[in-house]
Amino acid sequence: MNTLQTNQSNSLTSMDNKKISARGKSVLNSGEVALVGSGPGDAELLTIRAMRFIEQAEIAIYDRLVSEEILALLPENCERFYVGKEQAKHCVPQDRINEILVEEARAGKKVLRLKGGDPFIFGRGGEEAEYMLEQGVSCHICPGITAASGCTTYAGIPLTHRGVAQGCTFITGHVQNNGLLNLPWQSLCCPTQTVVFYMGINTLPIIAEKLVENGRDINTPAALIRKGTQPEQKTYRGTIGNLAELVKKHNITPPTLIIIGDVVNQLTTEQLATPGFLDANNYTAQKTSQETDQETKSCEQQVKTA
Ligand code: SAH
Repeated sequence: MNTLQTNQSNSLTSMDNKKISARGKSVLNSGEVALVGSGPGDAELLTIRAMRFIEQAEIAIYDRLVSEEILALLPENCERFYVGKEQAKHCVPQDRINEILVEEARAGKKVLRLKGGDPFIFGRGGEEAEYMLEQGVSCHICPGITAASGCTTYAGIPLTHRGVAQGCTFITGHVQNNGLLNLPWQSLCCPTQTVVFYMGINTLPIIAEKLVENGRDINTPAALIRKGTQPEQKTYRGTIGNLAELVKKHNITPPTLIIIGDVVNQLTTEQLATPGFLDANNYTAQKTSQETDQETKSCEQQVKTA
């Protein structure tokens, strides 16, 4: 059955079949896997390529971070296989997930491996692809909007902003197997750099302490975004100095991103009434762009002395 055609009444897909001609690229054959990023939750952030693979899937193997809204787009007859993980508590171990992908492909199914955000950003997508290739299973790869991009944008935080942040780093706050959080702290302390921590909510006190210890100003604006782009999205703004307090006060749990940098307050200091919508009626300029030259210099100085 060609689900691409049968699902045309679906509002998310009806637009694409008419307007986009290059659909040949996203054909999922029996015995193949599509490794697809589903984005941070809002189904409207799926790519058209992701949507096409979803529509063709005979079995979907998916993680905890894939939202209900996106799962609802799976074809009715598509088998669902949850392999979700929580920090340090793997529902299905990674090695077993790899094997399941290969087994289902070898059984001749059109396999959809659906992962939150982007499969190649803190998603172990590379490991899964490597295993499949070693086992002779071909896979399509489809990027998704990674949490750092989707969540900050929906919270009104530009990751870079001329004169305020010249670059941005995505980094994991998850402890290594030895229980330590060994990160290149000095490289995260340039004042004109935005830093986004994934999986950092449980190690937040260490993150804040290390950043300050390595020279980042304790008053640097910072934000926590929980369940970004989803109906429950919450943004908490503060500074490096009081983030840990915010976590305690509001009992903030994963999935949450930590954003460090002056961009946090560039457009708004408010919780947006509608995530992803900047209301001009509520806008008061928070601050003008920083004096770039001065900030750049202090960053250079920091690098030299490091
Ligand atoms: N591959 C995913 C990241 C997986 S790591 C991606 O590209 O987005 C899991 C971490 O991502 C979570 O602990 C959290 O820090 C972050 N995350 C993922 N989705 C999120 C969301 N909707 N809201 C806030 N943080 C999210």
